[in-house]
Amino acid sequence: MLSGKTGGRTVDEWPRLPILVCRTQPGMSHPLTRRDVEAMIVLLRPVSIYGVKSVQLRPEPAIRAEGIVFGEYALSGDISLYALPTADWTLPYLLAPGDVAAFRRYGAKLEVDLDRDVTHVHWPPGRLKSYCLYEVLAHELGHHAVQRRRGVAGRAVCRRKDHEALAELYSRRALQATKERTICE
Ligand SMILES: [Zn+2]
Repeated sequence: MLSGKTGGRTVDEWPRLPILVCRTQPGMSHPLTRRDVEAMIVLLRPVSIYGVKSVQLRPEPAIRAEGIVFGEYALSGDISLYALPTADWTLPYLLAPGDVAAFRRYGAKLEVDLDRDVTHVHWPPGRLKSYCLYEVLAHELGHHAVQRRRGVAGRAVCRRKDHEALAELYSRRALQATKERTICE
């Protein structure tokens, strides 16, 4: 269940990080696999996970009555990523403009029913995985980086708004690092 090992690959150069993959309910899945999480950590360098206690692909659904909670960073150092429907999403609310823009940036097709306050979201193959890698996992690792660099364990180091902005910066950097690596290869 908890493992820092991967088949045949040496992991000596980076600290072991427990990646917990929970079974999801029928119709739900995790867009990211253990391998995807490991690949992002390699991309962001091992320093990104120093002090992270675990990355957990949780069974609880991300889509909730109050909105979508893709992932969360706890001050304990645990990162949780929540399960998503495998089929197209029908959200019983309208999304904030920032979310609409972010979803579209990753290739999602959105249909908005203004009369019923319903949003339909379709993700072409592979797009939701990219969204979860950069906008969720890298973002939550960004929260950890902010905390680790400036902080005291168990206490938030800055206001929520600033924390979000810095985490955002981290996911931008991850995206940039991927582009640079693709160009180099
Ligand atoms: Zn955040």
